[in-house]
Amino acid sequence: MTDPLILVLDEGTTSTRAMLFTPAGEPVGAAQRELRQYYPRAGWVEHDAGEIWEKTLACAREMVEKAGGAGRIAAIGITNQRETTVAWDRESGEPLAHALVWQDRRTAAFCAELREAGHEEAVRGKTGLLLDPYFSATKMRWLLDNEPAVAEAARDGRLAFGTMESWLVFKLTGGADRTDAGNASRTLLLPLAEPDWDEGLCELFGVPRAALPEVTDNAGMFGETLPDLFGSAIPICGLAGDQQSATIGQGCLSPGDTKATYGTGAFILANKGAEIPHSDHRLLGTVLHQLGGRRHYALEGSVFVAGSLIQWLRDSLGLIERAPDSEALARSVPDNGGVVVIPALSGLGAPRWLPEARGLISGLSFATGKAHIVRAALEAMAHQTYDLAGAFAADGAAWSALNLDGGMSANDWMAQDIANLLGLPAIRPDFVETTALGAAMLAALGAGLHPTLEAAAEAMIGGERRFDPDMAEKEREWRLAAWRKALAAV
Ligand code: ADP
Repeated sequence: MTDPLILVLDEGTTSTRAMLFTPAGEPVGAAQRELRQYYPRAGWVEHDAGEIWEKTLACAREMVEKAGGAGRIAAIGITNQRETTVAWDRESGEPLAHALVWQDRRTAAFCAELREAGHEEAVRGKTGLLLDPYFSATKMRWLLDNEPAVAEAARDGRLAFGTMESWLVFKLTGGADRTDAGNASRTLLLPLAEPDWDEGLCELFGVPRAALPEVTDNAGMFGETLPDLFGSAIPICGLAGDQQSATIGQGCLSPGDTKATYGTGAFILANKGAEIPHSDHRLLGTVLHQLGGRRHYALEGSVFVAGSLIQWLRDSLGLIERAPDSEALARSVPDNGGVVVIPALSGLGAPRWLPEARGLISGLSFATGKAHIVRAALEAMAHQTYDLAGAFAADGAAWSALNLDGGMSANDWMAQDIANLLGLPAIRPDFVETTALGAAMLAALGAGLHPTLEAAAEAMIGGERRFDPDMAEKEREWRLAAWRKALAAV
């Protein structure tokens, strides 16, 4: 092993990881630590940014050792849970409060207030986002209003606000102040069409512009790690939010290319090239990447409940012992026996956005067995995807194939069912850690190991498996009609 290596820090919601890649995209090592989740009240979700830093550093050190020293690592790429907001003190370098996680709903009332005051259309027009607690700006405002240490640091000019990549870059470099345009596009403060933060949006949300980091490309030189962290300095050359990174790691680099990640929830992003996306169907517009100051955009739709439905079947209903058992059960029956599962266990996401909706299992009879329910639960993934496909098509981003990844995509039966219902090929890479791979590609580009993102994709993305549709049209129509009927009852 004499090639330089790439170290990826993949800071997720439930765990933080470090992975080593060769410039050919071979994974050669991984370390992982679970993260503590804090739920102080219903709807509140917090992380300890200090713990995230320490565990990320511990994972990174394991990988530096595995590589044979910092000198063997050409670049670091960072990918992160998006929107989660950290407030820290630029002088002490310490967090000023717990980080507010993307799932946190505590700012729902503030969002409703802004909607009622008529701000949503203007905010959507600029940022591509909705007035929803999901995004960072209202979390920043909450921290200023409710955490005295945050307000005090703001008064003294010591306050830094950032998403996780900014926090990690700050700690790794001992003070660099950066966010990439993709992560920044999830805050509600960055217009899709402008290079920098918007004064009017900062004012609307009550966020001091001076607390925000510099908006940069996704690949380049973003600073060097402090020499004593790993023995010698390593340049940080790639930054990207997890869903953007997965889109890049899937090789969805051309307009129209679309990926769907099935993890706890499901996230679908369609590449829109240099065209700023506008949705009439409540999809989100977002920056996919910015390279050399030029942006590519994506249209995004998310489904709140995907793998978490399978977890629920396992943990709350006890219908399966392990998530992968769902596949054999689904195959054990010829059809769903008339059962439909609407997985609105925590509301419905795009394209409906019904936070108050609740789930439903319909079509039960004495002939219903657990296999039918499990099969219908897996079928719900294809149905939710099909409904999103309609919204993407109506917004001018019809799919010609769907690139799958995420833990749930390991289920071959589900992958085939998605292809069947969409009537499109579903393509699954052999290496499904596309989030980490995307960050490795960006870091390799930033470090000059590959000349373009396309060249990085060519060199680093491996083989894939293709699922072609093979369902009779009659059966497909029957499935779609049954889903529509059940959904109408939610
Ligand atoms: P996240 O990144 O959101 O933590 P992962 O991508 O690791 O999630 O995917 C884990 C989810 O996928 C779990 O919710 C689990 O229930 C589901 N899952 C994993 N393997 C399978 C499988 N073979 N069939 C169905 N669901 C699965």
